[in-house]
Amino acid sequence: MTICQRCHRPLKNPSPSGFGPVCIKVVQPVPEVECDLFGFDIQAAALSSKVRLSEFIGSKAALAKHEIRMAFRDARERLEVRP
Ligand SMILES: [Zn+2]
Repeated sequence: MTICQRCHRPLKNPSPSGFGPVCIKVVQPVPEVECDLFGFDIQAAALSSKVRLSEFIGSKAALAKHEIRMAFRDARERLEVRP
């Protein structure tokens, strides 16, 4: 299961951007950096990499939090069933 990187809701259909249909409209896409041989913009490439990395870390953290939440919910349900 994937979850939205912005609002952390579970997504029915995983999107390549990592955002849900509502949040994708709010979040501005990061401009791609052209990788030609002579005009390579190192500052822009570094900034782009930073943004991508923080998105990746954010999505992994959100997914881990979501899994922990689900595990707690399951544990609580098991506790309630027990006499
Ligand atoms: Zn969202």
